[in-house]
Amino acid sequence: MIEVISDKVVTARKEYYCELCISKINKGQKYRTQFNKYFGDVGTFRAHTECCELAKIIVDADEDGIDEDNFKEAMTDYVRKYHYDEAIDDIEVEWQRKSDYDLAKKILSELKANDTTHISLE
Ligand SMILES: [Zn+2]
Repeated sequence: MIEVISDKVVTARKEYYCELCISKINKGQKYRTQFNKYFGDVGTFRAHTECCELAKIIVDADEDGIDEDNFKEAMTDYVRKYHYDEAIDDIEVEWQRKSDYDLAKKILSELKANDTTHISLE
């Protein structure tokens, strides 16, 4: 299990990469940083605040926690489930060709608008 030692939102003093969407966290942007202990190893986790928020809603985390793989998988499942357009046999055009960070923000705003706090995509 992951033991979270510290968890805070801070302002980036240099560029980092979000460990969930793997996009850039810009200098000056607020991001979430956690210092974790995982099976005896310690490590720092950094991610966009929106990505963390979204991950909590859409990822059913197992004991390995949330990582880029189950985060991306959950976003893909979400879009396929809720934004599939039968007419073009593909996902809706406005949901296509988005960077993972833009997609995360788009899904999050939709879920917040619906007051969704958790959904299971299984
Ligand atoms: Zn991100």
